[in-house]
Amino acid sequence: MKRAVYPGSFDPMTLGHLDIIVRAAEIFDELIVSVLNNKVKTPLFSVEERVKILEEATKGMPNVKIDSFSGLLIDYAKENDIHVVVRGLRAITDFEYELQIAQTNRVLSEGQVDTIFLTTNLEYAYLSSSSVKEIASFGGDISKCVPEYVAKLTYEKYGICKQNL
Ligand code: ADP
Repeated sequence: MKRAVYPGSFDPMTLGHLDIIVRAAEIFDELIVSVLNNKVKTPLFSVEERVKILEEATKGMPNVKIDSFSGLLIDYAKENDIHVVVRGLRAITDFEYELQIAQTNRVLSEGQVDTIFLTTNLEYAYLSSSSVKEIASFGGDISKCVPEYVAKLTYEKYGICKQNL
């Protein structure tokens, strides 16, 4: 059985993330989308909230499981017998960062954990969780960036009430 993990902050999950999830779930028998509990970053959504958002988005996908982890990705992969990491690439700027992490993980895991990259759907190439948060914080329109229920939750975090949501 081919199992892979798609790790990330997902703060919050965007349509770009969801596109990668859908495509990776078609490639692997089981895809575990795992929310990184990064103590260094101050997230907008708690790990539990981010997990719930992902669960809602993937409830019709039987081979997708949602989880969370802290610590090193390679330790998490080892504990769960996972040898493949999925990451998304939007632009060359992502590439440099991702290449370094992928190579580090491969060395640290002694060749046990490899990374595959799915290139972004062009429609979502500009999308990031940070820009979604920035736009939402000013009351801007994020309806093309995240599912409707995520937009509602994000505006709520900034105390913004949108009538039609
Ligand atoms: P990080 O884990 O680096 O904090 P994110 O949670 O924002 O980043 O993203 C997790 C993964 O999803 C990364 O591999 C990132 O490149 C990818 N990703 C983010 N947004 C998009 C998008 N719009 N299209 C494709 N991949 C994306």
